[in-house]
Amino acid sequence: MLEKERKQAQFPQLEMSHLLYGDKEGFDKFIERQTFFDNHPLFKVDFNFFNKSRQDQILLNAQKTIEAVKNLDLANQKYYTPNILCPQGNFISTVHFAMVIPAFQVLASDDQIERWMPSLKNFYAFGCYAQSELGHGSDVQSILTVATFDKTTSEFIIHTPNVEATKFWPGELGLYCEFALVFAQLIVDGKNHGVHPFWIRIRDKDTHRPMQGVQIGDIGPKMGFAVKDNGYMSFDHFRAPLDSLLNRYIKVSSDGKVERQGNPKVGYASMLYMRNILCDQYTKFAGKALTVAVRYSLYRRQFKDDNKQEILILDYQCQQQKLFPLLAEFYACVFGSIKIKELTNENFNKITQQNDFSMLNLTHSILSAAKSNYTYFVANCAEWCRLSCGGHGFAHYSGLPTIFFEMSPNIVLEGENTILNLQLARYLLKQLQNTVSKPDSVPSYFQFLSTDTVKIQDVTTIQSLATLLGCNCSILTRYAASKFMAHSDLQDSWDTKSGIALAKAASAFIPYFNMICFIDTIQYKAKDTKEILTVLAQVYGITMLLNNFQGLLLKNQISSEQIKLLQDTREQLYPIIRRNALSLVEAQGLSDNTLQSLIAPKDGDVYENMYRYASQDNSLNKQKVHEGVTYIKKMKEVNAKL
Ligand SMILES: Cc1cc2nc3c(=O)[nH]c(=O)nc-3n(C[C@H](O)[C@H](O)[C@H](O)COP(=O)(O)OP(=O)(O)OC[C@H]3O[C@@H](n4cnc5c(N)ncnc54)[C@H](O)[C@@H]3O)c2cc1C
Repeated sequence: MLEKERKQAQFPQLEMSHLLYGDKEGFDKFIERQTFFDNHPLFKVDFNFFNKSRQDQILLNAQKTIEAVKNLDLANQKYYTPNILCPQGNFISTVHFAMVIPAFQVLASDDQIERWMPSLKNFYAFGCYAQSELGHGSDVQSILTVATFDKTTSEFIIHTPNVEATKFWPGELGLYCEFALVFAQLIVDGKNHGVHPFWIRIRDKDTHRPMQGVQIGDIGPKMGFAVKDNGYMSFDHFRAPLDSLLNRYIKVSSDGKVERQGNPKVGYASMLYMRNILCDQYTKFAGKALTVAVRYSLYRRQFKDDNKQEILILDYQCQQQKLFPLLAEFYACVFGSIKIKELTNENFNKITQQNDFSMLNLTHSILSAAKSNYTYFVANCAEWCRLSCGGHGFAHYSGLPTIFFEMSPNIVLEGENTILNLQLARYLLKQLQNTVSKPDSVPSYFQFLSTDTVKIQDVTTIQSLATLLGCNCSILTRYAASKFMAHSDLQDSWDTKSGIALAKAASAFIPYFNMICFIDTIQYKAKDTKEILTVLAQVYGITMLLNNFQGLLLKNQISSEQIKLLQDTREQLYPIIRRNALSLVEAQGLSDNTLQSLIAPKDGDVYENMYRYASQDNSLNKQKVHEGVTYIKKMKEVNAKL
């Protein structure tokens, strides 16, 4: 059945695979690592995983991590995507590699890097990133943990002054790590020098018990993240040595002299790294959900046509409306994320190698907006894919609930999305001002702000769509700026009068940015690839506009006829996507084991799959008569007495 679908694709799938992974090397590395997971018995998908207790899931995950550490170089970034996307569960090392090591690279001195990096990379020093507290997550500057310098011993006294100051949420803290990068207010001679990171041993090397003066534990079950030991930690006048302070940008001498150097915004640089991973690797989970939903929609039939043939659900226009805009958005986000990766790497190298912060603001702003947009998209996409699979989407054997659960926290962690959007809003206002006062300084990605009018013949071309999306964001930014400036107390105006307008303006930026990246990617491609990508870009651009054209409406830059034309055009493009849909999702090269789904195999019979699991493999059915039945008997006895 699916072979027929594969044959009707109108583009070379391998070229698309290379595009989706950046290049041939990226795709080959993905397949190489995926093959390892596919062939290793411990990494074979097991749906009984979801019948296990959290305790057993954690133990199984630990076993998998050890096996991975034995066989694979987990620190190698080229394999991050398959390491995250392929196995069931997630390795114990994710926070350590994605947050702790990058923070070290940015915040530690050369001496500290030389001393710690080898053991960080080989797990001898395994740490978590302990920034958030019970009372403060987003507002890092207000955290309450203190590190008070004691001149008499040249040590820092790390202390949790109250319950609110308890470190809360750090992944890998609850059970596993021996070290923590603890963020605390640095106090020297009674003066507060702001929040800084301290690298501290928190568990004993031999016994793994918390060090004296430290209390640690797991915070309990969550929605998703079952195998992740998000933890809590408090300190009771814990003494940490002088060089525990990561001191590339701030130094405290043994007699208590404080010396600062470099840009105080350096702390952002390491967070950018994790946000980049969220944009790059985690966006691929939307592709995984789409593969399941599209394949299943090509197996599943409901209702008969005039010829008494049952209709494939993907042939229904309403099903296409659920999945095709998401498919187009997936491609847009992948191409956007490739550009973002380039920006992040350039910025990271400039900071770490040349002490050059010239790209930090631009990178931080784009990345904040992208992290916010992409993580919303992935969770939303997983949920719609689940809904598009009807009842079976609700079962773990579809693979879809897990994607939704595991991706949802990304909306909140590493910078809560609304707050990140507002950070872009600040940058948009600044650049809007610059378009008048310093037009040459406006980065190319923000030059759309210089105008709030458009003159376009055909609104449906990809170039026109990019112009319209830019103009929409420009008008919304001007509107937000006027709301913001209308009050004399600017802080109050920002917080309580213009937040909605500011967030709305910011959320209109990434659709424009993605569209530009999409057009860039299409430009140099061969004819067939270019044609299908152009269709996807159109569907993406139209969808983004139809979702939010409020700015264009405010200044009469779009008419009701044009809106109708956009709607009609999108519908006319769906049959082209329908024909190519399977190959567009299969270009990701995801194996059945990676998909972790019984309802979307590469080949085979989905109903046989589901029936086999329920009737033969489901561990709950292994007992001939389940022990729960004893209680049913008791219920009968109780009822009999009534
Ligand atoms: C699964 C998971 C893993 C995590 N891992 C780690 C980790 O490894 N290390 C670590 O240190 N932390 C970790 N965290 C904590 C995480 O970083 C914080 O939860 C996150 O930064 C959000 O902060 P918050 O909880 O304080 O949310 P809040 O800031 O309290 O947000 C609550 C609501 O208030 C709104 N809000 C707050 N301020 C503003 C404002 N200025 N303007 C408009 N709206 C506002 C938000 O938009 C949101 O709707 C993790 C969290 C989760 C869920």
